[in-house]
Amino acid sequence: MSLFDHQDITVDTEITADVVIVGTGPGGAAAGRVFAEAGLSVIWLEEGPKESRFRPNQANATRYHYQEGGTMIAQGSTLMPVTAGRGVGGGSLVNSALAFRAPDYVLQEWADLLDDDRFSPENAGLIYDEVSAIIGVGITRADIGGENNALIVRGAAALGYEGGWAPRNTPGCIGCGLCNTGCLSGGKGSVDRNLIVMARAAGAKVYADTKVDQVLVEDGRAVGLSGQVHHPDTGEPIARLTVRAPKVMISAGAIGTPRLLFHAGIADQLGPAVGKGLRVHPGSAVLALCDHDVNIWTGATQGAYFHVPGLPGVLPHTFNAPPEVVVMSLMSAGIGGKEAMDMLGKVCGIIVLVSDHGDGSVSATHDGRADIKYYFDDADIDRCKAGMIASARVLLAGGAKTLFAPVRGLGFYDSVEAFEEALMPTTLDDFTNYSAHPMATCRMGLDPETSVIGPSGEAHHLPGLYLADASVFPTSLGVNPQLTTMMTATVIAKGMV
Ligand SMILES: Cc1cc2nc3c(=O)[nH]c(=O)nc-3n(C[C@H](O)[C@H](O)[C@H](O)COP(=O)(O)OP(=O)(O)OC[C@H]3O[C@@H](n4cnc5c(N)ncnc54)[C@H](O)[C@@H]3O)c2cc1C
Ligand code: SF4
Repeated sequence: MSLFDHQDITVDTEITADVVIVGTGPGGAAAGRVFAEAGLSVIWLEEGPKESRFRPNQANATRYHYQEGGTMIAQGSTLMPVTAGRGVGGGSLVNSALAFRAPDYVLQEWADLLDDDRFSPENAGLIYDEVSAIIGVGITRADIGGENNALIVRGAAALGYEGGWAPRNTPGCIGCGLCNTGCLSGGKGSVDRNLIVMARAAGAKVYADTKVDQVLVEDGRAVGLSGQVHHPDTGEPIARLTVRAPKVMISAGAIGTPRLLFHAGIADQLGPAVGKGLRVHPGSAVLALCDHDVNIWTGATQGAYFHVPGLPGVLPHTFNAPPEVVVMSLMSAGIGGKEAMDMLGKVCGIIVLVSDHGDGSVSATHDGRADIKYYFDDADIDRCKAGMIASARVLLAGGAKTLFAPVRGLGFYDSVEAFEEALMPTTLDDFTNYSAHPMATCRMGLDPETSVIGPSGEAHHLPGLYLADASVFPTSLGVNPQLTTMMTATVIAKGMV
């Protein structure tokens, strides 16, 4: 048996392993697979439940599969919800499965910053190949793509933009559009279905329902982790589980890792860069009404993308939302409730992601929740608007008729020119902000003043402690981060065995 939860640990327990890892998301799973296949004994501690509790509704998903019940909010220039996944599989359980590689210019910048060739486009490319094969990355098939994606593919092609059907880790996708509440059909290659299975086959063990709150330090070395085992429905504390290991890895995500380091009281020891440098891929959406049925909530959840010429680091891709969110978007654009229900099926949309130059931080409140700050960079808003205007062009070229957006003050527009004229004077306060891509909060680097770990993954100031997740990115990425999280964690873990 290799998968345990609150039913198995009912009294305080201490065990040992070669490596103990907090978190079973893309980072922790990728690292654990490497360790286990190298013959090390691996134990994962995971706060979320051991088995997916997927239901096709957001309330259930936020309760079990989003960190802090989906209530994390960044304060700063404005209020912005920040989301991250939870459970055995972490964010891959509820993400949209887009599986992009980082652009070569980003990887080269990392290799230069780290003075480490393992992150060069060539070497990272080999690891991307390895991980992509394991998680089943392939180009979204048109037959399960759905009209929302197909319209974007048509529009981008008509305008000659590079892009089209997107790469996703969904080998068995049936196009139900429910990735963000969890894949009920099992068609998504979330890491619980591949990397963690491989590691468990090689002897690794997962302890779910266990929230780590202590990092054990002895004689100046990290030597283990300790967490509270709780009931997944009530949160009731059941027992403490302590794992002692010569290698301690934290892969709790870009919010969870600094949150844990602060809550455990070791952030100060690790230097001034802990929790600093938050990047979030801010962005916004452009929606449109069609004459024909789209049913935006069906088809591969996010299965199309394009690049805007002259706008590197801006990635427009499919916007998907459940019917209730689409109705709210229509109503916030001034449409009455009944009319919005009538229009519901005709809406299509694109979300615009921006590789950001804003700045933020993550620490912990006294009770261990995330304390998140984020300050927008004005130039990022301008690049977002440029991406939105290109997206408006693509939607009309793909067959949509009337443009609108979740931006205060905007109405409905039949031309890109009219949309642009209305959009340009809007400010950050008018935008509906949201982030599902926190990163870069415990950076990898050479300078202990601006980074927490070196290129090996080991903390500058605490031997035996390693980090491997989206928190360690040295810069913002410009593409959806899960595959690069797996690549980075795999590189770090291979260097440790
Ligand atoms: C709704 C949504 C859609 C997304 N869509 C995409 C997409 O299409 N493509 C893409 O590339 N990326 C997408 N992402 C982002 C992607 O999922 C994340 O970048 C990725 O999961 C980060 O991996 P990670 O290992 O760093 O952390 P996470 O995936 O956040 O994993 C961290 C794990 O650690 C656990 N944990 C945290 N703290 C503790 C603790 N104290 N004790 C024990 N366990 C703890 C958490 O429960 C979680 O399981 C999306 C994210 C969301 C939320
Ligand atoms: S769209 Fe595909 S991968 Fe996503 S939940 Fe549906 S079947 Fe699973």
